[in-house]
Amino acid sequence: MTTQRSTTAHSLPVTVVGLGPMGLALAESFLNAGHPLTVWNRTPGAADSLVARGARRAATVADAVSANPVTIVCLKDYPTLYEVFDATGDALAGRALVNLNSGTPTEARAAADWAAARGAEYLDGAIMVPPPIVGQPGSVILYSGPPDVFDRHRAALATMGDPRHLGSDPALAVLHNTALLEMMYATMNGFLHATALVGTAGVSAVDFADLALGWFMPTVTDSVLAQQAPELDKGNYPGDVGTMEMNLNALEHITRTSVEQGVHSDQPRLMRQIAERAVAEGYGGNNYLAVFEIFKQATRVP
Ligand code: NAP
Repeated sequence: MTTQRSTTAHSLPVTVVGLGPMGLALAESFLNAGHPLTVWNRTPGAADSLVARGARRAATVADAVSANPVTIVCLKDYPTLYEVFDATGDALAGRALVNLNSGTPTEARAAADWAAARGAEYLDGAIMVPPPIVGQPGSVILYSGPPDVFDRHRAALATMGDPRHLGSDPALAVLHNTALLEMMYATMNGFLHATALVGTAGVSAVDFADLALGWFMPTVTDSVLAQQAPELDKGNYPGDVGTMEMNLNALEHITRTSVEQGVHSDQPRLMRQIAERAVAEGYGGNNYLAVFEIFKQATRVP
């Protein structure tokens, strides 16, 4: 597909290492935009369609890295990164490595140290969209690492999606990615459990979605959470219009109703336990958002 971007910028040559479903989508976005592209994958046949469109298949990873100033890496995980790149000798020295596999903050910081020891510039990143959206409007990729390295390669990175630089700590991209995914799963589970609950009275998911997603959730996110974010930063949870104790009652009702209606009750039970802990720690008179103080602590193993 030829986009407007392909006619405006991009003659910047790029290497992509790792051609699983995601790496292939990244590589295709560079070809679509007209970048000269070098690729390497453990299983060479994964590059066939790219080579047919003009990409160069490198014989070794060292050859791939040496071909261009910047290498985008999209392998399975951090151990695979080391397994693949430890064979490159000093080929990384003076080059930039942009690593987009998923992982943990500790793994990201270790990879930044590992790259520095090889004389390479390093950005860590997290892809926030599935492969078909890469390179399309709506594609967002998070980055962290030295701002000057990001700025130098921003134009090439923008081909894959809107590049958002979060700061110089290399852990920030995967940390944000994990936090956003956690929010997604918690939101989906909330809606799915609630839909199962009303489903016990014959209400369809479509009918419930109208009320739950059309009206209710936006009031929670916009009128409560977005407005209260500054108070979270201050640790200010006034209970003047509703207390933790009152919310504990609501959570007790949700748990009991789940049991009565014969649906799964672990999720409301866990939310109730967290609120009980907040009460036990002295937040009973605060509003519900004081559970933030409990979430900031490690779980205590009984
Ligand atoms: P994947 O299965 O996680 O990774 C496949 C890639 O890793 C292939 O290039 C594969 O090479 C390579 N690989 C695996 N083990 C290897 C080894 N021991 N030595 C050399 N290469 C090895 O598939 P993916 O979907 O492309 O994901 C890549 C990364 O992107 C992952 O960290 C994933 O979490 C992240 N991500 C994926 C998505 C998505 O929707 N797919 C979305 C966001 C982020 P071969 O082809 O030779 O097997």
